Amino acid sequence: MKTRVSIAIDGPVGSGKSTVARLVARRLGSTYIDTGAMYRAVALKARRRGIRWDDADAMAALARDTSVELRPAAAAGVTSTVLLDGEDVSRAIRETEIGRGASDIAVIPGVRRALVSMQRRMAAAGGVVMEGRDIGTVVLPEAGLKVFLAGSVEERARRRFLELKAKGASPVMREVVEEVRARDLQDSTRADSPLKKADDAVEIDTTNMTIDDVVAEIVRLAGVRSG
Ligand code: C5P
Repeated sequence: MKTRVSIAIDGPVGSGKSTVARLVARRLGSTYIDTGAMYRAVALKARRRGIRWDDADAMAALARDTSVELRPAAAAGVTSTVLLDGEDVSRAIRETEIGRGASDIAVIPGVRRALVSMQRRMAAAGGVVMEGRDIGTVVLPEAGLKVFLAGSVEERARRRFLELKAKGASPVMREVVEEVRARDLQDSTRADSPLKKADDAVEIDTTNMTIDDVVAEIVRLAGVRSG
């Protein structure tokens, strides 16, 4: 049986990765895997247990001892159902503070090793659309198609602002821009698996594109790759 092409989608916060990857997966009948949700789930577990996000040894041990499962979205407003040791944490992991914690723990090599091996197992059967920061470079270097989504800081902050408002929060634009810049800096300058475009990835600048445009382009590229 021919293994369907796996697609790696990487990019910074607000580049539209999650929405785009989920829609591409739906169009292609593939499994959508949101790896950021996995870092968020481990950060949430640490906070609940009172483990500091910068305690590298404790965090690595915690990640090794954690199960994160992803299922198709079961409720409106969530992109995937995320099960942390069997408990549905789909909403709890979306808090801004947990996003920051995910970014903090993502610098720890032991945490990355544990989650990368979980991600590779999830992708082993092929036919996945996996999104994150290091999918094309580290997790699935053999992916049939690699896409790097880019976009201006202002536009990405604007999207994040609207997303937070839609969830009922009262974001302050200046703070959202600062948060996006801080996450960009932390994600792209960490020593282990920094956010960067794989040499063989196709870069798509989403600044002036709609979600539908981006999805259509990736589906087209996937069609070309799978011949
Ligand atoms: O994509 P999302 O914003 O949910 O990811 C949360 C954080 O998890 C990111 O800022 C990044 O630091 C980290 N992450 C990562 N590698 C991935 C996915 C997410 O380092 N593959």
